[in-house]
Amino acid sequence: MATNRTFTMIKPDGVENGHIGGILNMITEGGFRIVAMKLTQLTVADAKAFYAVHAERPFYGELVEFMTRGPIVAAILEKENAVEDFRTLIGATNPANAAEGTIRKKYATSMGENAVHGSDSDENAAIESAFHFAGREMF
Ligand code: ADP
Repeated sequence: MATNRTFTMIKPDGVENGHIGGILNMITEGGFRIVAMKLTQLTVADAKAFYAVHAERPFYGELVEFMTRGPIVAAILEKENAVEDFRTLIGATNPANAAEGTIRKKYATSMGENAVHGSDSDENAAIESAFHFAGREMF
């Protein structure tokens, strides 16, 4: 059954470049309700596990280094059709291919440093949310 929640991270580049406010504004203007949110930092083990699906890719080491180099904003978002609609709002992985009006078009600087994460399925949204938040931190 489809859920109405997805999980996002404002990645270290988005935080470093001062875009927390701008990105959260696009998220709320896009009709998403913030269910949970925190400033936190991934450990190397966290990032390796999070991106384990990419372990054999040439950019894996660079990705883990990038994702652990500074704080991130982790959040759970709610909206009808949340996973798919949020993927639309963030835009293509490569900002060169991201549509106008998307978060990555506005804030991403490269394929790797692309400002924001969005879960790719309801199943992963639930796993990623539970990794970061206890039940009492979800509202
Ligand atoms: P998405 O985040 O759009 O779901 P993927 O799951 O394919 O994209 O990749 C996860 C993350 O890995 C991307 O958001 C990006 O930060 C990084 N990444 C993907 N492909 C590359 C690449 N070719 N070079 C560098 N980093 C990459």
